[in-house]
This record gives sequence, C-alpha cells and structure tokens, in this order.
Amino acid sequence: MKDEPDIIKILREEEKLGKLRKQSFSNELDIIQKNKEDFEEKSGEVINILKEPLTNIETEKKDETFRWIFDNYAYAITIADEKKRIIYWNKCAEDLFLMNESDLTNKDVSTFYPQEEWKKIRKEHISKKGIKFKMETKMIKKTGEIFDVEVSFYLLKGAGGKTVGSIGIIKDISKHKITKKKRNESDTMFRDIFEATSDLLLYLEKGVISNVNKATLEFSGFLKKDIVGKKFSDLIKIFPKDDLYKHNEAIESASKGVKLSDYESDLKSNDGHIYKFLFSVDYINDAKEIKGVLLRGKDITQRQRAWDELVKLEEKYRVLAETSADGVVTIDPLGRLTYVNPSFEKLCGRRKSQILATLFREYISDESIYFFQQITIDARKENEKIENIELELSHVDGNIVPIEINVAPYNKNNEFAGLVCTIRDITERRKVENELKKSERLKTEFMNIVAHELKSPVTPIKGYLDLIISDKKASEQTKSWAKVSLRNAERLLKLVNDILDVSRLDTDTMRFDMEKLDVIQILNEISEDMRPAIESKKLKLITNIPKDLPNIIGDKYRLSQVFKNLFTNAIKFTDNGSITVEAEKKKDSILIAFKDTGIGISKDELKKIFNKFYQAYTGDDRKNEGTGLGLYICKEIVQKHNGEIWVESEIGKSSQFYLKLPYLHKMVVNLNNSQNTG
Ligand code: ADP
Repeated sequence: MKDEPDIIKILREEEKLGKLRKQSFSNELDIIQKNKEDFEEKSGEVINILKEPLTNIETEKKDETFRWIFDNYAYAITIADEKKRIIYWNKCAEDLFLMNESDLTNKDVSTFYPQEEWKKIRKEHISKKGIKFKMETKMIKKTGEIFDVEVSFYLLKGAGGKTVGSIGIIKDISKHKITKKKRNESDTMFRDIFEATSDLLLYLEKGVISNVNKATLEFSGFLKKDIVGKKFSDLIKIFPKDDLYKHNEAIESASKGVKLSDYESDLKSNDGHIYKFLFSVDYINDAKEIKGVLLRGKDITQRQRAWDELVKLEEKYRVLAETSADGVVTIDPLGRLTYVNPSFEKLCGRRKSQILATLFREYISDESIYFFQQITIDARKENEKIENIELELSHVDGNIVPIEINVAPYNKNNEFAGLVCTIRDITERRKVENELKKSERLKTEFMNIVAHELKSPVTPIKGYLDLIISDKKASEQTKSWAKVSLRNAERLLKLVNDILDVSRLDTDTMRFDMEKLDVIQILNEISEDMRPAIESKKLKLITNIPKDLPNIIGDKYRLSQVFKNLFTNAIKFTDNGSITVEAEKKKDSILIAFKDTGIGISKDELKKIFNKFYQAYTGDDRKNEGTGLGLYICKEIVQKHNGEIWVESEIGKSSQFYLKLPYLHKMVVNLNNSQNTG
C-alpha cells in the first residue's frame, strides 16, 4: 500500500466514505495530462476530444465536465486500480453488463472476460510495454451471456512508469458481428446458387462481363478468363450475331433500370448443336444505384420439342377422331358434350352445332340411361376405362340404335377433366346375333325331332330282337344275327340319347332333379351292375369305397350316367388287369376315381378327350363303338354340380379319371341355377 499513487489513495479513501461517484477527477486528469502526447491517438479518444478546451477551465468546472462526459458517454467506461479492481464506471457500463454498484465495486477486471480471452489480452497486450491498445474480444454480462466487444485500453502510469491503473472504453459490437456474419453467409449462399444453377448466368458491369457461372462455361466450352472482361458482342461464337440486338437491347434497358420481357434465342453449344434458350435480363441495384445486369438463359430445347410433339400428336388424334368410323365424343365433368366427331353426328342424326354443350345422356335411350349414368360414375370414381358396354342411343327420328360404348376418363393437371367415349353402332351385329340364335334354336328343335323320330322305331325293334334271342324255336344262326342286330340297335339308341343330351346341355335345357345323395350307395350299385361286363373280359374289379362319406346334393340319374360312362370306357379300353373304383373324403368335397390298367391316353390327347365328338387314336376299331360325346356330357354334368373332372394317364399302362364333387353345404347356393326345366 506504501507505493500506492496519490490518485488511487484518494479514490480509495473517498470510496470508503461512500463518496466515490461524486468526487473529484482532477488528479486523474492531471495524470492524463502528463501523458499528453498519448492522447493524440484513438484509444483515448474520449478524453482527447475534450482535453484541449478543458485545460484552461478551473478545476471545479473541469471536474464537473468530466463527470458529465463520463456518465453520459455512449460507451461503457471502467477505471481499474493497479490491482485491476474496478474503482469507477459510468452509467453505460452498468447498462451494458446489467450490473449495479455493488456488482461492480472492486470487481476484478479479469472476471469480465472469458478465461481464454483474458489470457489473450495479457499475452498480446499487457505483457508488452505499450500503454494503450485496442482489440476485439469477448466479455461476460451479469447473466453469464458472452458478447462481442471492442475495448480500448489505456494504462495509467505512475512514477517510474509503473502501472497505477487502467481505463477501458468498451463498445458492444455483438450486433455488428452478427450482421457481418449473416452477410458473409448470404454472400456465400448466393455465390453457391450462382455456381450451382443449371441456367446460364452472366453478370455484366458497365456493359462488360464480370462474372459467369459454371453452366455457362460448360455450355460454351470457354474458360472463365476467355469470357470475363469481354463485351457481349465479343462472344458471337456462343451468342449468334442475329440475336445480338435482342441481348443488347435487354442489357441496355436493364442497366437503365427497366426490365424488358423475356425473349427466346438460339445458342450454339460447345458440341456444335443449337439449343433454344429463354432469356431474362434483370438489373441488380443497391439503395443508391444500379450496380450491374444479370443475364439468365434457360434451356427450353426439350420444352420446345415436347410442345412440337404435342401439337403433332393432338393433330394426329384429331384426324383419327374425325375420320373414325366409330362415334367419338368427349364430355366434361358435368356430362356436357365438348367434342363430337362426324360419325357420332350421323349416329344420332343431329348436327354438331345442335349438340355441343348439351348433356350426352339426352341422346341415350330411356331404357339404358340409368345404366349409362352408373358407368360414367364408375369410370370417374375408379379412374379406369370401362369397355364394351351395350346401350341404346335414341336417333333424332325416334329410332333406337343399339350401341357398344367404351368410356375412359381423362385428367388434366392430375384432376378429372371429363370422359372420352367411343360409340359403335351394333345394329348389324345384333341382327347377325339374332339370326344365329334363331338358327341355333331351329337346329336344336330339329335335333330333338330327329332324335325322337329315330328313338321311337328303335324301341320296338329292340323288343323284337330280344324276343328272337330268347325264342327256343329260333335257330342258333338266327339268334346270332339277332344278337348283332341288337348290339347295333343299342348303339343307335346310345347315339340318339347322347345327341339329345348334348343338345339339351348346349341349350341349357337339361333337367336336373337335385336331391340329397348317398354316393356310397350309387357307386356300389353301379359297380355291381358292371361286374358281369368286367368279368367277361377277365378283368379284376377293385372297389375302395369307405363306409362313411358325407352326402352331396345332385341328380341321381345324371351322376349315375357319368359314373357308368367312366366305367364303360375303362372296361372298353382295358384288356388285362383291373378296374378300380375309389372314393375319398377331402376338405370340402368327395374325390372319386376310376382307374384302369388299359391302353392309356397320349399327352397330346389328354386335353382333347373332353371335347365334343373327340375320339383318341386307339389303333384298333374300339372307337367305332363310341360316339366321342360321352366325356363331353360327363364334364358338363359334373360342372352343373359345381364339380371338377380331370384325367391322368400313362400311355400303354393306365388311365385315372378323377371327379371332385363338393359337399352338401357348398351345393345349396347353386341349386336354383341348376334346376332348369327340361
Ligand atoms: P367314346 O364314346 O368314343 O368313348 P368318350 O367321350 O367317352 O367317347 O371318350 C373319348 C375318347 O377318350 C375315347 O374315344 C378314347 O379314345 C378316350 N378314352 C376315354 N376313356 C379312356 C380310358 N379309360 N382309357 C383310354 N382312353 C380313353
């Protein structure tokens, strides 16, 4: 404490008396004045400015003036003693650090700074001998917030050059720093955008190109130095002469602050191709003046091409629609006709001018209008085309025209924009179909008559032949002739019956008397019926039928017909071995199999044998005994029972015919459909 300079001693004593802030600064000023020349420079600017006029003022006044300056100074001022403890500060310092008198009194100067910063200050400045310096650093507020400052230090030197204290003038530069940072960031951002954009960008200042982006360099094949510093007209290699006036006009105008509308221009690229560009020229200005002109070229070659294609395509479709033999119309979302082609005009007997903008449904017959509405709603809802719908159109003369219509929705900008309909006149087709139906009906009727006419004489013939065979008086010769005749009569009867069945099936007039059936019983009965025929061929009959199987719903007569047919075929095409009948309970159905060890069926023919009149090649005359209708009838009957029939075979070895018939509960649904009148 001995060496303490007077000023500090006085200040200390006064501080103890609590008079510090009201006390004299004359001594302080004296010290400052002693170092007069140092104040010439910035760090001491506050004192410096006011020093001269104050020198001649009496001490009292000087004091007051100084106090006023210190207190009202726009920057924070702190004065510290030789132990770096704050002994004086101004109002601004309190505001800046958010501290009050008790916070600031005797506060160690170093605690204002983050540790790192304080180290820097000591190292950079305090350790050096200078008495004043200015630096950017960081300080801490009472709240702990660290902020950017610029501090001007002035070291107060006492006798022998000893530091007796220091004055700090602190300027808050945090806002300034933030703006500067932001500015830097946005500068880099703009530079990045400038470089990254795929458009050509050229920046001109006073008519001279001062910057270009990467896209421009890549397109032109030039280096930056080839372009920068050049005038626009120097670059006719990229910007062809013919369009130069367009560019110049736009650039000139923009440099006067007037932006002209965008224009198209062709440019020649590095690879010699011509591309179409859309140019826009903008001026760049700051608050005061226009600084430069930015030229931007957007490659619209693809767009132009797509547009040309579209025009061509639309033209193509227009011609297509105009010349189409079918009617073509488009309707808007409200159902109004927006386009009709000549064929449609003809179809409904009205002129385009009469029907455009009217509702399409007005030309649909009353009978089919509901259906038509339904289709248009569906097409719109599902956003899918609906094809081959038969409706009726009402012609202006009152006639009804049968039509087939296809409806497809079309969208614009992902939104439903309406429907395109193609309409075909099917009057002729209907006529042919009706003719066909008529002739089908006639054919069936004819077949029925023929079959019945054939059947009726055969029955008595068969009866008489039976009589001859069992007549004891008839000679063996006669009996053997009668047997041959009977076999042929039976074949004829089978053929007639098969033809009748086929015609019933084809016209959907076969009668099915559906009832609950016990499959075990039917199979056992038929097996027994077949036994003599099997044994006469010295074949073995194997039956594999479980005692317990679920019932099915079916027509007993027709199912028996199927089983018999499969049995008969098995016997017919087997010369050695066995015939096996099996039944098995499956998940929802009964599986029945007829297996033989006969001649088998070739792979090719497996698919065909269920066709009408198909007989596989057997290499002998066995097929003469059949009609080629049996399996077709079987398949149809099984399908009427909701069942399936298929065959597996190995040629020369065996054949297996399988039937799958669903259980009772599954059948009920189909009962009504199957109960046709015969
Ligand atoms: P068909 O009355 O001529 O027997 P089908 O429709 O019943 O007529 O049979 C068609 C053809 O399928 C037969 O001609 C025969 O070639 C072949 N076929 C049917 N069943 C068998 C079988 N079990 N073994 C070998 N071939 C068979």
